[in-house]
Amino acid sequence: MCTDSALALTPAPCWALFLDVDGTILHLRDTPDGVQVGEKLLDILELLLTRLGGAVALVSGRRIDTLDSMFAPHRLPTAGLHGLERRSADGRLHTVAEPAALDELRPQLLTLATTSTKVILEDKGHALAIHYRLEPELSDEIKNRVEQLVQPFSSELHVIHGKMVSEIKSPLADKGAAIRDFMTEAPFKRRLPVFIGDDTTDEDGFAYVNERNGYSVRVGDCAETLAYYTLPDVDDVVDWLESWPDMLDTPQGATKDTG
Ligand SMILES: [Mg+2]
Repeated sequence: MCTDSALALTPAPCWALFLDVDGTILHLRDTPDGVQVGEKLLDILELLLTRLGGAVALVSGRRIDTLDSMFAPHRLPTAGLHGLERRSADGRLHTVAEPAALDELRPQLLTLATTSTKVILEDKGHALAIHYRLEPELSDEIKNRVEQLVQPFSSELHVIHGKMVSEIKSPLADKGAAIRDFMTEAPFKRRLPVFIGDDTTDEDGFAYVNERNGYSVRVGDCAETLAYYTLPDVDDVVDWLESWPDMLDTPQGATKDTG
């Protein structure tokens, strides 16, 4: 359980910043397509990239190409699909093979999504997501049904239930592994990892960052989380990030060895 406000932390040029997107730096909307990135956030990211020597990455459940469109003209180091795909700072792409079981499961989930016009199946290619934000009263029923459908494929697939969404993906990647892999590469290597997220799918990231004595920050409810620090809302995260450049007065971010 996190009790300390992240506002007590003083950003340092040796930090590497990892950001979940939806519910962390962007407000959640009724549908995934309803989310937009404003100029203010783009400007903040640009300043942070400069002040942290490029060590700023997005770590999201969305696809990398979707994130690129959303955050254009930026093309940040990015882990998409909860780490199933990852683009290093040098542009190299790393992907986990798509489980064959997804093809078998897809039609069954499509049938489930026809339960209601307000239940949406998002086909991300390497992962599937069932959204029920528009019909929250169905959430328990849908979660149970998704668990039942995935159970026969449990050696290849697993389910993570987030905020009004159930995600089905390979268990071979997660956000913690994605951050760990970034931390072996320039410009993240030998920096101190800081990860801000808001949901169940971010817990692997918090666990890794804690292991590295970095800073884990959970947005919103933190009754059950591995994160040590908290911020109440997306607006607080954006305001905090906006204040960083003034505190980071070493332009290109000297690094320190954190082991
Ligand atoms: Mg999120």
